[in-house]
Amino acid sequence: MSKKTKLTSIVEAAIYLEQIGLNHGATGNCSCRDGDTYLITPSGIETQNLSEDKIVRMNFSGNIVDSISNLKPSSEWRFHQDIMSQRKEVGAVVHTHSIYASTVSLFGSELPPFHYMIAVAGGDSVRCAPYAMFGTQELSDNIINALIDRKACLIANHGLVAIGDNLKEALEIAEEIEHLSQLYIEARKLGEPNLLSKKQMSEVIERFQTYSRWTKV
Ligand code: 13P
Ligand code: ZN
Repeated sequence: MSKKTKLTSIVEAAIYLEQIGLNHGATGNCSCRDGDTYLITPSGIETQNLSEDKIVRMNFSGNIVDSISNLKPSSEWRFHQDIMSQRKEVGAVVHTHSIYASTVSLFGSELPPFHYMIAVAGGDSVRCAPYAMFGTQELSDNIINALIDRKACLIANHGLVAIGDNLKEALEIAEEIEHLSQLYIEARKLGEPNLLSKKQMSEVIERFQTYSRWTKV
């Protein structure tokens, strides 16, 4: 993919998240790897005002390589950078403040294996990273731990992070986890849903290796 195309796709990713209601205003952020640098959405810019010239290019030492509009990178650049530097297979990171995932995150609880699609995140749960102040190294460390063997996690009292080989996969996973969070909230209104066993979830994870686009982490 050319640099131009990656700039375009990161803007499109942010617009898509807003269009499907997963982000609003200047909340959330997106990044994607580009060689030995990464592109990230700027801090505090509303999606409706986002354009390619506002995207910030960073290196993996945490320095700005290029910011045509002189904007700062997302305040969450640490966790975007830490994920991509520690997980070489990850090409993109998406963060949202979407309603349902954020609602579950308010209780600090994980999404348990109440539905087989939980396996899209790579395991038998979607963990919730403990709360830490936004933009901090502590938050990044908490997210890195919650993402071990996973492609998504909740962040307590905050929102959701999803990762993928590319932006398309990260967006699909974010969308699915938001849907599952809604389902979980609905289910809990009726009581405690039945949970799938470790064996049943392992079978789904195994099946996803050959089924369509859902592949194991
Ligand atoms: P930025 O505008 O700095 O990306 O912050 C939004 C956000 O979601 C912080 O967690
Ligand atoms: Zn946030």
